[in-house]
Amino acid sequence: MTRKKLYLDVSGVRIQSYLSRTTHLRGRRGASAALAEATRLEDQEIRRLFGASLNTEAGEADGVVNLVLDAPDSEEEADRLARDTAGRVFRHLRARLPAAEFQAVWAVDTSYLDAHRTTIGPRLREGDVLSDLPPVSELPYARICERCHLDPARDRVHLGDGERPYLCPDCMMRFAHRTREDARTAEYELQKRLGTPARPKELPELAALGGKDTDRNHVATVFVDGNAFGHFFEKLAHHGRRLSAESKARISRGLNQATRDALAEAAAAVRRPEEDGDMLCVIPYLVGGDDVLLSLPADRAWPFVRHYLRSFTERTKAVRAEADVPGLPPLSASAGLVFAHHKLPFHLVVEDAASCLAAAKRLVHGKKESVAFYDHTAGHPTHALCLADLEEHQSDLDALTALPESGRHALAAHLRHQAPHAAAATEAHLDRLGRRDVVEPFLADQAPIGLQQALDIARWWR
Ligand SMILES: [Zn+2]
Repeated sequence: MTRKKLYLDVSGVRIQSYLSRTTHLRGRRGASAALAEATRLEDQEIRRLFGASLNTEAGEADGVVNLVLDAPDSEEEADRLARDTAGRVFRHLRARLPAAEFQAVWAVDTSYLDAHRTTIGPRLREGDVLSDLPPVSELPYARICERCHLDPARDRVHLGDGERPYLCPDCMMRFAHRTREDARTAEYELQKRLGTPARPKELPELAALGGKDTDRNHVATVFVDGNAFGHFFEKLAHHGRRLSAESKARISRGLNQATRDALAEAAAAVRRPEEDGDMLCVIPYLVGGDDVLLSLPADRAWPFVRHYLRSFTERTKAVRAEADVPGLPPLSASAGLVFAHHKLPFHLVVEDAASCLAAAKRLVHGKKESVAFYDHTAGHPTHALCLADLEEHQSDLDALTALPESGRHALAAHLRHQAPHAAAATEAHLDRLGRRDVVEPFLADQAPIGLQQALDIARWWR
């Protein structure tokens, strides 16, 4: 009989919004680097720090520490050991990420997949976890932090750029970060893969990589997440009994790798070597198992997202085929996409990206690739779309995008101001332009992309 093990997962909670506490890219990068350094640990470090081993059956992800221990004989002892170990991990994380929120959850089982299916997954869904919250300040009269405006400041800090703001402990950590601490971040990994040693210092530099036909001051922030992963691992645990723990671990790592490979491939696809030089054009803040949060120049977002979603599906298909277990659902990903001026506070951008991602996922119920987007300049919501509809209408969207900008503005104005007679007015306008054919595909009653939405897409479609 296989010996049972105690599996313990300690992770950051709502880590995307934690990262977005500071508007400065420098502060987010500092937090990403601290998170990667605190959670991407080697087995040796885990033994030394927590007296446990690295759980290699789980894939690598930012913001999660996966541990495994020998299971004690009784449930009480297992709980005590898990709590003690979680306490050590909490202290380790708290020292490095002062304002983040953490949780721990554990289970005793013969494999991590089974532990996740029977206990860890349900406990996470029910919120039956051990939590570690940032300490509440005892100084309510204190000066507020000048970077995040969320926590009391502790001290004045020289930032090296002539500024000396009062900072909270979390921002002190973020802004004290040095480039050499980036070695474990997803951004550093992407830089190495693309061969781009330089990177934008702040978002205006990233926005400046936009094409000549743009104002070069808009960025897109993309939040991608895998579909059907919960279902997939449930089936794998259920039907994959004959698979060895090593095979299951390989599948799990293969899916993690699919996320990283799709990211690198899509970033390489939108890179413009002549204009970018050795500058990185896609900034990932966080790469989890199947989720990614990143920013890039606004006019590269559509090609990036389409490329990523296609590539991710292909790569997960290969892992699924290799697993050779009956009944495994196909895997895919959905994306939430936000276009905004680089000055827009990043926490708003991240909230919108998360809402868009949720809408995109609702549309397909985990069954295929989908996208939802929000353009802050347009200021109105749009419907979520299946990737297949975007691909099918690619040439129609290309043609619409090729219309002079003034023509597209006029069309949008007709749609906005003459709602009751919009169709007739729009058609009259098109007849005057002599380009009725361009909008025909978006006018049908059943068209998956309506004209208003097509015009919204066209703004950044390339
Ligand atoms: Zn702060």
